[in-house]
Amino acid sequence: MTVVIVGGGWSGLAAAITLSDNGIPVHLIESAKQLGGRARNVSWQDKVIDNGQHLMIGAYDHMLALMSLIDIDHSKLFKRYPIDITIVDDIFTPLRISAKGGLPWPLSLAWNVFRCAGLSAVVQLVRLQRDIPKLLANNDMSVADWLHRTKQSQRLIKQLWQPLCLATLNTPIANASAHVLAHVLNDSLGQDQAAADLLIPQQPLGTLFPQPAATFLIKNGAKISLGCRVKQLIDDNGQITGIITNDGNTYFADHVIIAAGPAHCAELLAPMLAMTKPDELPICTVYLQYRQEVRLAAPMLGLSGTHSQWIFDRSLQHPGLMAVVISGPGSHESLSKQALIDCVSAEVHQLIPSMPAQAESAFVIREKRATFASTIAYQQQRPTHKTSTKGLWLAGDFVANNYPATLEGAIRNGEQCAHAILAEQNLT
Ligand SMILES: Cc1cc2nc3c(=O)[nH]c(=O)nc-3n(C[C@H](O)[C@H](O)[C@H](O)COP(=O)(O)OP(=O)(O)OC[C@H]3O[C@@H](n4cnc5c(N)ncnc54)[C@H](O)[C@@H]3O)c2cc1C
Repeated sequence: MTVVIVGGGWSGLAAAITLSDNGIPVHLIESAKQLGGRARNVSWQDKVIDNGQHLMIGAYDHMLALMSLIDIDHSKLFKRYPIDITIVDDIFTPLRISAKGGLPWPLSLAWNVFRCAGLSAVVQLVRLQRDIPKLLANNDMSVADWLHRTKQSQRLIKQLWQPLCLATLNTPIANASAHVLAHVLNDSLGQDQAAADLLIPQQPLGTLFPQPAATFLIKNGAKISLGCRVKQLIDDNGQITGIITNDGNTYFADHVIIAAGPAHCAELLAPMLAMTKPDELPICTVYLQYRQEVRLAAPMLGLSGTHSQWIFDRSLQHPGLMAVVISGPGSHESLSKQALIDCVSAEVHQLIPSMPAQAESAFVIREKRATFASTIAYQQQRPTHKTSTKGLWLAGDFVANNYPATLEGAIRNGEQCAHAILAEQNLT
């Protein structure tokens, strides 16, 4: 049995590793010149950085297990910090989501919220947490409606829920699926404390996983073609038997997994299957290089009431480098690069006065199609791994699961797709 995998993002790689580890020959075909897809390396000046700031947490257990499988020692790749995030606002006093303070989890979380926002904020959070089973047992609703139903204050909505929903679902609360947010909350803050830990990479994204994944695959006899776009699937009387690439090559296979992003996947499937194309939303990262000794007080801080939403200290890789993230759509999209850099630098200095007013240099990366929009409608229409066409399978972060577009969701879907093929062949 041979499997062709279209797309060398984290999901395609997870599928390839799972199959390869089970002795199945795979051929991974990626249109870009490097692996990694939406989580890859980019060069700027003399640095290798990420195509966009990513946050990983302790709950990413499939990602960590897959890294172990290919002999990556993730305890050396990530610095692990107990959650401790302060969100500074242009009006309200800072809000702290933290495991610190000596109390057992999750009392420590409640205690820190109590100290900066009072008892009523704790009561609101407990009310929302207790509402999760009821929410999940019934029809989905928007996050905004759920926040209203659980009587969250304007302050918590502005300073916590809006930024958290954008950070996790990359979708504004008015349209975001409350079910998806509830699953994210359950799996991150609703488990033991380790699930909420922040995993701060000490390597750029492409070096963290795609490069060692390629080494593992090649060692296991897999074939990887880079800079090679799949333009057509071979349909032999209703069964997919291979693919044709842009450079005119044909590769036959018993199974083809499409692990391209949702838009590319829908295009490839169009001749045989209709797939709902989700709305795709942007994420913008503004890298600010300050003097080498400049540091944040924590690995990351939230900002609310500003264009800038989160700032990450990337000094572990490049001393003095900060990454400011703006998720989702917004008026920042119409600003020129220089206007955005000026605006973000000023906001950072205003809300965190210890940061210099200006960076020594700056770089903007706008990923226009960073993630699918995690809306109620799309959550109900996400496709499954198995298609109605024999030999044709889907992987990628957009395939049905409880997660929004994340690395963990992409990896789980890659693995599950591979296991579904193995099961169909009675190989598990
Ligand atoms: C700026 C940014 C910030 C993010 N932040 C976070 C975060 O903080 N935490 C988190 O967990 N996730 C985050 N994400 C989401 C995460 O990166 C994605 O969910 C994940 O990388 C998706 O992986 P994938 O393999 O499903 O898809 P992709 O990475 O899109 O991979 C698909 C691959 O298929 C290739 N391809 C497409 N068409 C063809 C074709 N015809 N032939 C051959 N190859 C093809 C593409 O080139 C691409 O490499 C972020 C994403 C971005 C862009």
